[in-house]
Amino acid sequence: MTTAPTTPTAQLRGNACPTWCAGFHVPHRTDHHGNPAHPEDAGVEHGSATIDEWHVQATMTALQDEVTRVTVTEFRHDHHNDDELPLIQASAVNPGHLCSVGLYPSDARRLGEALILAADMVEDRIRAMRGEQSMNDYEADRIAAAIGVMRPDWPVPSVRTLIRERLQDRPRRDVAVALAWIASDSATKTPARVLESGPWWLAAAADLHDTREEGK
Ligand SMILES: [Zn+2]
Repeated sequence: MTTAPTTPTAQLRGNACPTWCAGFHVPHRTDHHGNPAHPEDAGVEHGSATIDEWHVQATMTALQDEVTRVTVTEFRHDHHNDDELPLIQASAVNPGHLCSVGLYPSDARRLGEALILAADMVEDRIRAMRGEQSMNDYEADRIAAAIGVMRPDWPVPSVRTLIRERLQDRPRRDVAVALAWIASDSATKTPARVLESGPWWLAAAADLHDTREEGK
């Protein structure tokens, strides 16, 4: 760096990029008539690169070219930093309608987790209707996290790998019960013990003997 900024705007707070800014800038320094914006309102909205974008399943085929896109924006005022937080944007979540939401991170996480939980619940029912029992990656991750709470000496990534590579074809409920069984057993040193046949699989099948065909 050999030269200091010389333009007046170089020192405005609004020009300072968040670390994640991808250079997408929407300046707000003039009003609708081209007059200078009120100093309280002046600044720049910074935009991130696209975090995710996909076509949601639209009910009207004519609208399926609309893309749902998740980005982060942050408005930085030139003269103060009140109320500045990044917003997680989800656009066109309802194709064909002017529908977008700006959420603070905690609400975005809550919404995202609520959507995952809802999808999980619905997918469980769909799998049950189809007679399918295997779990998805998200379910495997949740079980691994729960076992990690029970056994801090078992690294969650190891448990996750064990589930995903060796147990994912089994019913989620059976895997959760069997892993909890061996995690509760202080004599068990490694989660891989679950792969052996043992009383933990009998515990998993405890109330299903009459309806299940395989004996495990
Ligand atoms: Zn920026």
